[in-house]
Amino acid sequence: MQPSLAVNNLHARVDTTPILKGVSLSLKPGTIHALMGPNGSGKSTLASVIAGHPGYAVTKGSISLGKKRVTPLTPDERAKLGVFLSFQYPVEVPGLSLEHFMRTAYNNTHPDETLSAIEFHKLFMQKLKELKMPSTFAERSLNEGFSGGEKKKAEILQMAILQPQFAILDETDSGLDIDALKAVARGVMKLQNPNLSILLITHYVRILRYIKPDYVHIMAHGQIVKSGRRELATQVERKGYDWLINPQTKKSKKK
Ligand code: ADP
Ligand code: MG
Repeated sequence: MQPSLAVNNLHARVDTTPILKGVSLSLKPGTIHALMGPNGSGKSTLASVIAGHPGYAVTKGSISLGKKRVTPLTPDERAKLGVFLSFQYPVEVPGLSLEHFMRTAYNNTHPDETLSAIEFHKLFMQKLKELKMPSTFAERSLNEGFSGGEKKKAEILQMAILQPQFAILDETDSGLDIDALKAVARGVMKLQNPNLSILLITHYVRILRYIKPDYVHIMAHGQIVKSGRRELATQVERKGYDWLINPQTKKSKKK
């Protein structure tokens, strides 16, 4: 059995500002975790720190994969270990075709099974078909002029091709209409397998009707303030975040 990705008492800052203040989380293969919380609570920061974004400094705590320490690794090395991050705001790169970009990413993360342009084209077309995406996707420049829905679909396609073990999807649902949301959710569910662990970051409960998480974590002020099973998302839908966050604010005010 492959190990879980463990985040242990993680503290991180941007410049001099502490953002993550002791986050612990264990992503076991085959499980889906939803990470929810108000804007500015640190969700995207946690995603970036797990992926190894150089703009954040880990000041305390660690990330590990079994006995392997992940914290000192570069983003590239983490990707090779199967860590995949889909960005909240994907970048646009005019002139770089989606297919070319994905082949480079694939060959980088699969150094022992690199594919030629022709071999990769087959894989790419097969995945497009499986995910019911138009073949015109292949020639388009990376995210250039993509609608919100297309950008998110491109991220799911990338995930289908790279076959990561830990997929962090940051607000994959934001800005999508209901049909695009369903299509993206269907794509994610199709990729779900016993070796894959998904951390689905979302502000809204809506997507959790289509992607059913095993665990739900609520983040506020750089900490996970509550974890539970799927029902926690339903409670959040009914009651919002305030009841979970206010005790925290009061506690920190007392200090
Ligand atoms: P969320 O994804 O939950 O909305 P973020 O992780 O994006 O939250 O942000 C958490 C906090 O960290 C916010 O107050 C945000 O302003 C701050 N922050 C995040 N990234 C940076 C950065 N690169 N520079 C300065 N502040 C940042
Ligand atoms: Mg965010």
